[in-house]
Amino acid sequence: TKNVRVPVSNRNDELAELIDMFNDMLDRMQRYIEQQSQFVSDVSHELRTPVAIIQGHLDMLERWGKDDPQVLSDSLKASLIETKRMKNLVQEMLDLSRAEQVEINYRNEKTVVNDVVHQVFNNFKMLYPEFTFNLDDDLDEKITVNIYRDHLEQVLVILCDNAVKYSQDRKEIHITLSRGMNTVEIGIQDFGEGIAPEDAKRVFDRFYRVDKARSRKKGGNGLGLSIAKRLIEGYHGSISLESSPGAGSLFKIVLPIIEDPESLE
Ligand code: ADP
Repeated sequence: TKNVRVPVSNRNDELAELIDMFNDMLDRMQRYIEQQSQFVSDVSHELRTPVAIIQGHLDMLERWGKDDPQVLSDSLKASLIETKRMKNLVQEMLDLSRAEQVEINYRNEKTVVNDVVHQVFNNFKMLYPEFTFNLDDDLDEKITVNIYRDHLEQVLVILCDNAVKYSQDRKEIHITLSRGMNTVEIGIQDFGEGIAPEDAKRVFDRFYRVDKARSRKKGGNGLGLSIAKRLIEGYHGSISLESSPGAGSLFKIVLPIIEDPESLE
């Protein structure tokens, strides 16, 4: 698609500022539209296969179905399977478009980061015994942040799920917990396929997937990271990615610390 923009004049006043803001809005709208149409084209592509298979079986049924009971039963069975698959796909699309409209209810809660991280770590260790999970906890005290506990958990689960999904032969995941000046930092690192620099900018976009077919097979829809980002930024934190293709990815969450939680009582 062509870039729509208001030409920037070389003036330096309120009008110029307004034009900048306007262009910024246009950029964002355009990106949104591109994401949507990417999604529609991915979905259409996926629906094409089951439709083609069903059509093939209907052809067979029309030609031989009446005389050959084997064809009749095989083709009906295969068509049913594909129909179910289509039904699931359509349901998933509906869920997604609904999920997209949902507003996040940010809730203030004093959450002890250490506890949440340890809990998610233990859950994943149990869920994926074939993986080695490492927790490197540098904190020597409990650290409290202002985030609804379920939201922090949700973000950690999204990142750990991805680490598992996109690990290859080396089934190893490192979680780190450390503190900065006024922040606490959680790192989730895998040693899988990694993300190329040109994709790294976009993986936090809605519906963006580096490898559509592969992500789909692993149950991906390209929403996880965009949700994680929305959640963390809503609590004045940030989420970032360091990655090199082939070597793995490191996702980092940074959240501001509440230094004196008691004083807020
Ligand atoms: P998905 O449901 O497809 O995993 P996400 O929004 O969680 O959606 O991630 C977007 C894309 O970013 C994924 O499809 C994948 O290509 C890439 N990605 C996310 N996490 C990792 C990771 N740990 N290693 C490599 N690629 C990743």
